[in-house]
Amino acid sequence: MMIETDVLVVGAGPAGSTAAKHAAFNGADVILIDKKSEIGAPKRCAEGVSKEGLKKLGIKPKSRWVTHEIENVRLVSPNGTVVWLNQDKVKLPEAGYVLERKVFDKHMAMDAARAGAKIKIKTLAKGLKKEGDQIIVNAESMGESFDIRAKIVIGADGPESRVGRWAGLNTVFMPKHMESGVQFEMVRVELEDKNSLEFYFGSLAPGGYAWIFPKGDDIANVGLGVLPTKTKKSAYQHLLEFVKSCPATKNAQAVEINVGGVPVGGPVRNMVTDNVMIVGDAAGQVNPLTGGGIISGMTGGLFAGEVSGAAISDNEITKDRLAEYEKRWHEDRGDSFKKYLKAKDYLLSLSDEELDSIALAFKETEFENINTGELIKNLIKVSPKALLKLGKLF
Ligand SMILES: Cc1cc2nc3c(=O)[nH]c(=O)nc-3n(C[C@H](O)[C@H](O)[C@H](O)COP(=O)(O)OP(=O)(O)OC[C@H]3O[C@@H](n4cnc5c(N)ncnc54)[C@H](O)[C@@H]3O)c2cc1C
Repeated sequence: MMIETDVLVVGAGPAGSTAAKHAAFNGADVILIDKKSEIGAPKRCAEGVSKEGLKKLGIKPKSRWVTHEIENVRLVSPNGTVVWLNQDKVKLPEAGYVLERKVFDKHMAMDAARAGAKIKIKTLAKGLKKEGDQIIVNAESMGESFDIRAKIVIGADGPESRVGRWAGLNTVFMPKHMESGVQFEMVRVELEDKNSLEFYFGSLAPGGYAWIFPKGDDIANVGLGVLPTKTKKSAYQHLLEFVKSCPATKNAQAVEINVGGVPVGGPVRNMVTDNVMIVGDAAGQVNPLTGGGIISGMTGGLFAGEVSGAAISDNEITKDRLAEYEKRWHEDRGDSFKKYLKAKDYLLSLSDEELDSIALAFKETEFENINTGELIKNLIKVSPKALLKLGKLF
């Protein structure tokens, strides 16, 4: 059996559904497939997004999928020193809302369907080949094997992406750039401030950090990411130790566990080849500092959808034309990702003692008033070594 379409999107996560929606809006015939039987489940995410990010994508928050609104951020150093940030005063990525991804992802797929995309759930892409100026994707659904012929394929198949590789793109993330994330959704979490995202730094999560993202009442996502190259223990072992030692979670109970890889080395070198584009985690569109990829992946989806839709309507499906997507993504995100990569390298270079002294220096800081000069003066006072490391990186 052969199905024909203009654009085939593989993967109905936030990046894929956004790509499908915008390709359809721009006039293309679109099929969106996902191997899952329920789009969005199981989640692999702490579910934090910035308000500004959603706004920029033109998405209005809905009570169906926003579980909690965030006002503050609480940063905790290894010895428990706390620095508070208010998200109105400091622009923070991934802070604003905590979502219910299982509902959010479905809602984004519904938006794609409303724009005209056809959705095929429980449909696994198994391989692709080029035939003339089109791509044939072999797929399987409910025990049935069939082919989909598309003019453009958008690979939105997440961190373990295969679509890019099948098309000859290098999408392999080196172990030093692939964080292992593990998380419990927990109840009976006792937070100091129920409207704060909490981040815990240091050797409790080598190569990453631990987080508590509140979801209302006494419920929260409690997780951490580690770089396997920086620890001999598994992420799960680190999480068990964190939950036991953290005052907020020592009486909490897990009702769900989520495990997943997070590509934190920045975007892949090429996001486009003949008739194929990759978006979202598949293209490494994840903030290297925070590990957040919902908004930046959806931004990739938006650009890829618009560019593919326009290429179809102009009947100009060349690699150069599709590369406009990659150019737009770099214009929008490229510089900030470079900054985040440097900030991550800096953070990972700091010892527990240095993190503690930095937290001490900024404990009482009113962040809306501080300027770079004062930041440096504070750092000189408490940790000249930490300042030196900062100087080497920037
Ligand atoms: C523990 C953890 C916590 C995180 N916390 C946050 C956070 O708080 N905020 C944030 O912004 N980001 C967070 N992230 C990252 C975020 O989850 C991802 O960046 C985001 O889901 C990427 O979206 P995507 O659409 O690219 O891919 P995904 O959401 O991974 O979707 C890919 C889809 O492709 C489908 N698929 C894969 N292969 C095939 C195939 N062969 N055929 C058909 N379908 C296929 C999958 O079933 C899946 O539905 C976290 C990640 C982890 C692991």
